[in-house]
Amino acid sequence: MNIGQEVLAALKNEITEVEYNRYIKQLSYDVKKSTSDLALFYAPNALIANWIKSKYTEKIAHLFEIKTGSKVSVTVSLKNEVTSVKTKQKTEQKVQHSLLNPSHTFDNFMVGGSNQFAYAAVKSVSENAGKVYNPLFIYGGVGLGKTHLMQAAGNVFQNQGKIVIYTTVEQFLNDFIRNVRNKTMERFQEKYRKCDVLLIDDIQFLSGKEGIQEEFFHTFEALKGAGKQIILTADKHPKKIGGLEKRLQSRFEWGLVADIQPPELETKIAIIEKKCEINKVKLSKDIVNYIATVIESNVREIEGILSKLHAYSQLMHVDIDLMFTKNVLKDQLQENRANLTLDTITQSVAKDLNVKPSEIRSKSRSQNLVYARRIAIYLCRELTQNTMPQLAQYFGMKDHTAISHTIKKINELIENDEDFKTKISELTNKITSS
Ligand code: ADP
Ligand code: MG
Repeated sequence: MNIGQEVLAALKNEITEVEYNRYIKQLSYDVKKSTSDLALFYAPNALIANWIKSKYTEKIAHLFEIKTGSKVSVTVSLKNEVTSVKTKQKTEQKVQHSLLNPSHTFDNFMVGGSNQFAYAAVKSVSENAGKVYNPLFIYGGVGLGKTHLMQAAGNVFQNQGKIVIYTTVEQFLNDFIRNVRNKTMERFQEKYRKCDVLLIDDIQFLSGKEGIQEEFFHTFEALKGAGKQIILTADKHPKKIGGLEKRLQSRFEWGLVADIQPPELETKIAIIEKKCEINKVKLSKDIVNYIATVIESNVREIEGILSKLHAYSQLMHVDIDLMFTKNVLKDQLQENRANLTLDTITQSVAKDLNVKPSEIRSKSRSQNLVYARRIAIYLCRELTQNTMPQLAQYFGMKDHTAISHTIKKINELIENDEDFKTKISELTNKITSS
């Protein structure tokens, strides 16, 4: 038995047999790459890796410490993922980049109205390195797929045998500082200037850091001059990134600047279905729709949700149905929706149905207003913590029985009318992602 196996065997005594068999047993320990301060394990898929990371790494590290007397950091990776292993001896000569995630491919990227421009731009660059848009600058909010897209191009280039450097501004900066300190700047320059493709993620962090901006400028000029492809991402348009040298800012706009917007409902559904397929999780259409409306724009939440659902259902021996999903996601829901109020929901419904908020809250019995009012009441009940009497008061109704009657009506409609059900999902999506 190697030390990794010994530690896992010890862990067996601390957790339930089900947990051990389902998760821990699937880990394998990399004897070669592990060192005295790093323990590297492989998991068979991302769900198990995430789950183990969130639940067991501390325990595992503790057991290592007991057995070996020294502190290790525990890493759980995917088997096919080329890991950037940090060891004390090696960091001196070699700076590690986070390498490309092999599942960040174009095939795994779901395209919709919100991201098709960025997708088309990156795709085109991946087919014509250095020739079409150089640099290509992608910007958009958190978790919208910028890194995924950028790495998709990186994977294409890498498969063609090109030298691809993927790095964040932070790593680039650390690398720079280390080389300055060691007086090995020529090594730094050679490395970044001899690559074929340079991918730099989250470029907004250059803001206000003058020394590194200067160095980056020269790297940029050298690569661009040699026709090497550069792809950059940021959370905002180059013009909006403050604390950036003018010459850099203008160069960022030389090629093409493409934005990514928050995904529409259909795109979210497609993404969830794709993630289920990749991670071999089976969910019914209802649950997929539900998750798509619960998560707002940050697609990154999807993987977390899937792994949570998977893990709970395995540990508790229950199938993943809608009730179960709602329960598991309750916390997430409350957090995301904390800022939704009766006013904002009513305003959105009014806008969507072309009536006034005041009309929704009036006593008018005209058919379209009754319809709008019922939908508003239903959504307020679903999306906020207000009680039925509070809703009755807000919508000027007699008492809570009127509210519960309304909700019952809407639930019946949702059950019997596919179009109406879609309408409600779309509205929920609009409200929760605005
Ligand atoms: P960003 O860099 O914009 O913050 P990421 O590229 O890290 O976002 O994406 C977060 C997660 O969402 C990743 O797991 C990524 O694979 C996934 N993702 C985002 N957009 C899509 C999409 N259109 N299709 C498939 N997966 C997506
Ligand atoms: Mg990113």
